[in-house]
Amino acid sequence: MKIFSTCPLCFCDNATILWEASSSEQASHFLSPLVNKDKYEKLKEHIQYLQKASLVSVNKCSECGFIYSFPNFAGDKKFYDLIFSDTNKYPQNRWEFIKSLEIIKNSKITNPKILEIGSGDGAFIRKLVKKRITTKNAITAIEYSTYGKSKIKNFGIECLSIDIKEINNRLPHKEYDFICLFQVLEHLDNIHKLIDRLKKILSKNGQLLIAVPNEKIIKFNELNGALLDMPPNHIGRWSKNTFIKYCDLNNINLVEHKVEPFSLKKFLFMFFSYRFLRKAQNVNSIAAYIRYKSNQNLKKIFTIIFIIADFLFSPKLLFKIIFSSAKLGGETQLARISRVSKKNKDLHHH
Ligand SMILES: [Zn+2]
Repeated sequence: MKIFSTCPLCFCDNATILWEASSSEQASHFLSPLVNKDKYEKLKEHIQYLQKASLVSVNKCSECGFIYSFPNFAGDKKFYDLIFSDTNKYPQNRWEFIKSLEIIKNSKITNPKILEIGSGDGAFIRKLVKKRITTKNAITAIEYSTYGKSKIKNFGIECLSIDIKEINNRLPHKEYDFICLFQVLEHLDNIHKLIDRLKKILSKNGQLLIAVPNEKIIKFNELNGALLDMPPNHIGRWSKNTFIKYCDLNNINLVEHKVEPFSLKKFLFMFFSYRFLRKAQNVNSIAAYIRYKSNQNLKKIFTIIFIIADFLFSPKLLFKIIFSSAKLGGETQLARISRVSKKNKDLHHH
């Protein structure tokens, strides 16, 4: 369905609705009412308050192809406090960590200054120090979660809980050689204000390293009964083309765009777990019964049986996965962006 809504990336007014969700569906995505009815109601109310609407749509811009939530509001601290518990684990070995460590090491900058926005529990930062790529005092972290922040500080790294978009916020260093945003950009609104600020604190030859989910995997999941990419957690869905548009509009340069290689084992595990979780969002389903009402010992074994049964009874899906695997790629895409724009470079050459 064609509608009018303004694209946060290119500001054009035409879009197609991919899907819509009510605030009850949004809240159920993050927290089942079967787990904590009170908290679920609070979350639902807070989502409505953030969006100022009881319905959200996920739209695709007709002009640039950017996929965004409408209304386009990011989750705030209260939202994340409601959906995350202390038992949430931060992944320690991500594909973009390895790629970024390589890029920073190969830059040959001595003791590079590095800013990481959204550091989680500091998994990437610890690798930077361990591999002697830079020193602790050259690193600045930005992280909101109390747990993550304390882990980073205990490791001896400066960690701030600030909104990077606010110009008045002072950072320990005036400029940074690398600014990393891993699984962060897709959560943020005001994306042009963000890049404006990042350009000001990036050194002349500095680079932005931005990792976001692979939009092809999200699309496959959404079309095949796995989890939806639900706002206001993720509110923007990026691709190589939309990164190019983002850079053009902000006079910066996309140096490299890479997609994580496809792994059948990783994909099957993710995809069928996400199908189980999607089914469990319906409080009257067998999946919900297994996940929320059976006792701890049975829960694990029933979940495995459910997922294996789903796998065995979905031969069509398996064919689809095998045929699309070459095009799909892995979970993550990494964009490497430099401040020096192509246009400026061309001017110098002529
Ligand atoms: Zn657009």
